[in-house]
Amino acid sequence: MKLREHMQIGRRAIKHMFLMSRRYCFSTVAGSIVTSLMPYVPIYFSAKLIDGLAAGEGIEVLALYASLTVGLVALLSLLNGWITVQNDLGSKEQARGLDWVYAEKAMGMSYASIEDREVNLLRERIRYESQTGYGLYWLIHFFRALAGYVVQIAASVSLSVSFFAVSTVPLWQKLAFVGAVITTMLVNILLTSKWGKITSAFYSKCVDWNLIDAKFSSYVDDYRGGKDIRLYGLAPSLTDFDLGTQMSVWKQEAKMELQCMGLRLLDTLMNYGLQLGVYMLLIAAALGGGISVGSIARYVSCVMLLLTAAEGAATAIQSLLVNNQYLKRYFEYLDIPNPMYQGSLTVAKRDDNEYYIEFRDVSFRYPNTESYALRHVNLKFRVGEKLAVVGMNGSGKTTFIKLLCRMYDPTEGEICLNGVDIRKYDYDEYMALFSIVFQDFQLMAFSLGQNIAASAAYDKARAEECLERAGFDQRLSDMSKGLDTALYQHFDREGVEISGGEAQKVALARALYKDAPFIVLDEPTAALDPVAEYEVYSRFNQIAGDKTAVYISHRLASCRFCSEILVFDSGNIVQRGNHEELMADESGRYHALWDAQAQYYAREAG
Ligand code: ADP
Repeated sequence: MKLREHMQIGRRAIKHMFLMSRRYCFSTVAGSIVTSLMPYVPIYFSAKLIDGLAAGEGIEVLALYASLTVGLVALLSLLNGWITVQNDLGSKEQARGLDWVYAEKAMGMSYASIEDREVNLLRERIRYESQTGYGLYWLIHFFRALAGYVVQIAASVSLSVSFFAVSTVPLWQKLAFVGAVITTMLVNILLTSKWGKITSAFYSKCVDWNLIDAKFSSYVDDYRGGKDIRLYGLAPSLTDFDLGTQMSVWKQEAKMELQCMGLRLLDTLMNYGLQLGVYMLLIAAALGGGISVGSIARYVSCVMLLLTAAEGAATAIQSLLVNNQYLKRYFEYLDIPNPMYQGSLTVAKRDDNEYYIEFRDVSFRYPNTESYALRHVNLKFRVGEKLAVVGMNGSGKTTFIKLLCRMYDPTEGEICLNGVDIRKYDYDEYMALFSIVFQDFQLMAFSLGQNIAASAAYDKARAEECLERAGFDQRLSDMSKGLDTALYQHFDREGVEISGGEAQKVALARALYKDAPFIVLDEPTAALDPVAEYEVYSRFNQIAGDKTAVYISHRLASCRFCSEILVFDSGNIVQRGNHEELMADESGRYHALWDAQAQYYAREAG
């Protein structure tokens, strides 16, 4: 990464942090300045006190030095206490802000990005990186450290600069003092940057291991994995896998620690060597009558603090450069565009619901895949039509629906609403036209009513009516809190567990409550028992009312009641017509599928 890019990322990250919590930014830097200043107060006044004692100063002056030492330290401690409280509050604001940034980004992304494997890997990675302290958190840590080191360097230099004004100390001794300090500082910086590189390379690999570990834990902890682990005796192989990963991490960590230990040892030896040299030099100067006894301790402390600060600043800058790689990834994620929001045409609200949809030679490939999930689909359907979509698993039925409701845009061709490409419409307005129950629908752990209405405020009578139409009325009457009953127990201990079939009915009621002109049911009976399934078919016309309905199923019998049936095969619409017309074509796909399923039922019956 070039310096220019480092600067750009840094500037953007600071702005971003400020937006989340100014309090956190300011209190972190202020806290660091105050805590770094604190040790210099006793260093300065103790030297004054010792020199005062040696010079036989009166009790008033000595008492003043003692009071100033204690008073100033106390004052700084109090200030620091207040700053710490602000910093704690700020860190919560910052954490909440970051959570919200992630949530807002995920919810505002196009569905294509949400399903995209690369995007998911990127998201997982940056979340782990931020949990291990990289990214924005590290940036704040950098400013905290840097502010402290700058104060430490400035204070150390200003408290030791008087050494160079002492006329009795020969020039060569002064030059030797500066030379020794600068050489040690440079070697320290070199060693620090070397071990900084070793550790950051290791910690960057840790993110990969953490991702593996998280997946492993999800297998072990989750009840779904629990069944298979027990039934198929998977525990030993899972344990072996985990042990293998842990051992490899442990070996690399041990290697990294050993390398760093050698460098640290060298660094420590250099520091103590310098300390000894400085002591000797100062003792010689003191014996020559050039400097006071109190100043010896002050100069030695300042030199050692200067070294620590320079070393710390070098480490901080080195890690800042590494951290910018993490921040780059973080912004890459935030910058993933959402092409769905580009259209601005309003969808005319029509009381007659007179909308028609047309697929014009539509082909589609999922991102990062080679083969087409849909190929040259041409289709027109009008309001009020009851359309069934049938075909084998993987033939493209769900993909067809995802394109219809703009979860994805076609790779080739166009889909039009009333003759206009749907990409030109305002995305939210277009989405409002559809009520869809996907196979993998998701209910939230809120109240039943909120789930139906997808909102906290809702029309109770309408919600109940929709539940009744979806066949959930019996179960609703068993719930003592009715629509206020919480589903699941994630947010409410009194929440109720509902079965897959019941959940499917609730999802159906939610679609009915939305009251959109198009209703799409993707395998709506997959989790229902045969009785409930029969109920949904027989009441389908009543459920769908005057809406345009698309009913997807791989069970042909459940689609007979639809006026129009589309037969999908390998991403193509291979046949279209009502049941009788399609059956009349004995060489057609529909006939073959029907026969296969009918034979199965006949054998079952036999
Ligand atoms: P159906 O609903 O008829 O069972 P789908 O529309 O779900 O079929 O799938 C059609 C094809 O697209 C299949 O080959 C499937 O593997 C592929 N496919 C579905 N979803 C994705 C996805 N998110 N990424 C890549 N390929 C997908």
